[in-house]
Amino acid sequence: MLQLSTNLTQEEIKDLVAIVYDDAVNLRRLFHENPELGFEEYHTLSVIKKYLTDLGIEVKTGIAKTGLVGILHGKEKGPVIALRADMDALPIQENTGTSFASKKSGVMHACGHDMHMAMLLGAANALSQVREKISGTIKFIFQPAEEMLAGGKRMVEEDVLKNPDVDYIYGFHVWPELPIGQFGFKSGALMASMDSFEVSLKGKASHGAAPHQGIDAIVGSAQVITGLQSIISRETDPLDSVVITIGELKSGNGFNIVPESAVFKGTVRTINKESRQRVSQDFKRIIEGMANALRLEAKINYKSGYPITNNTEEFVDHASRLAEKLFGQNAVVHLEKPSMASEDFSFYLEHVPGAFIFLGVQDQAGGSHKLHNERFLPDEKAMKYGIGLFIALATNPFGTRGQAPSPTLN
Ligand SMILES: [Zn+2]
Ligand SMILES: [Zn+2]
Repeated sequence: MLQLSTNLTQEEIKDLVAIVYDDAVNLRRLFHENPELGFEEYHTLSVIKKYLTDLGIEVKTGIAKTGLVGILHGKEKGPVIALRADMDALPIQENTGTSFASKKSGVMHACGHDMHMAMLLGAANALSQVREKISGTIKFIFQPAEEMLAGGKRMVEEDVLKNPDVDYIYGFHVWPELPIGQFGFKSGALMASMDSFEVSLKGKASHGAAPHQGIDAIVGSAQVITGLQSIISRETDPLDSVVITIGELKSGNGFNIVPESAVFKGTVRTINKESRQRVSQDFKRIIEGMANALRLEAKINYKSGYPITNNTEEFVDHASRLAEKLFGQNAVVHLEKPSMASEDFSFYLEHVPGAFIFLGVQDQAGGSHKLHNERFLPDEKAMKYGIGLFIALATNPFGTRGQAPSPTLN
C-alpha cells in the first residue's frame, strides 16, 4: 500500500498557480497566434519541447508524428500519473478580433486546445518546482490531431502508456456550458462514441418523364434515410440515447433526369457499447433490406471512430474531492447527462482508468461562444482552475490501480 505524502496546502497550490500563470497566458497566446492542424503541429511541438527542457523535465518526441511526452520523477515512489493535453487547431477562419488572433488564414484554435496545452505547461512548471513533494511519476502527454484524426489512438498504439506504465490518466476540456470557476464531473459515459458512414445507392438512369424505365436513386435514398431513423424511434430504448445524422447527400445532374446513383454520409453517436454494436448492425440490415426492396444496389462503408469516453468512478470522485477542497463546493458540478459530442481521450480510457473533466469557460456575460465557432475565445482566467487542479492531481496520488481513493489535500 502506497503512503500518500503530499505536503502542499491549498494556499501553496494557489501560490504556485499565481507564479506560473503569466507564463501560461503567454504560452496560450503564442499557441493561439500560431495554430496548426492535426499531425502538422511542428511549431507547437518545438515550443513545448523547449519549455519542458528548460524546466529540467525529461522529454521524448517521435511519438505519433508530432506528439511529445514529458516525464517528471518525484522524490518518493508512487503511481505513474498521466496528464494529457491535445495540440491541434481547426480549419476555421478566426473572427474574434483579439490582439493575439490567428496569424494563419483559415486555421484557428477554436476548440480550446491552446488553453489545454498552456495549462499543462503551467502545471509542469509548478510541479518542477516542487519535485520533492511528488510521490510517483508525472507523465505530461501532448497529443496531436484530436480533431477527427484520432491522434490519441496513435499515441496509445505507439506505447505512450508504457515505459513507465501509466496507472491512470486525467485530462480537461474547456467547456462553454459551465461558468469559469466550475468543473463538470461525470462517472461512466461522459461523451459519446463517434462512428461514420458513407452509403452509395445505385439504380438506373432514365428520362424524367419515364421513371418506370429507370430505378430512381433519389426516391430510394429518401426512403432509406427515413427508414434509418426507425432505429432511433422504434428499436432503441427510449431511455437510451442514439443519434444518426446524415450530413451530406449528393445525387442527380438535371431536373428532368431520373438519377442513377445517390451517395450519403453521416455519423452515429451512442453512449453505451451495446447500442454502438447493435446500431452498426441495424444500420446495415435496414439499408440492405430496403435497397433490395427498391431494386437498388447498396454499398456501405461503416467506419468505427472514437469510442465512448468512459470515466472511471473512483477517479472522478478523487478529482471532484480535490476540486472541492481547492476551490470550494461551488466549483464542483455533477453532470447528469453525457455530451453526444466525442473525444479521442476515450482511447486512453480503454487501456487505463481515469477521468476526462470539463473546465468551465463561460464568462460573466454568459456569452462565451460555442466550441468550433469562429468567435470562440475563452477567458484565460479559467486556466487558473485547470492548472490548480492539475497540480492537486499530480501531488495527491490515488495510489496504484484498485486502491481506494484517499485525497489528502490539507
Ligand atoms: Zn473540437
Ligand atoms: Zn477539443
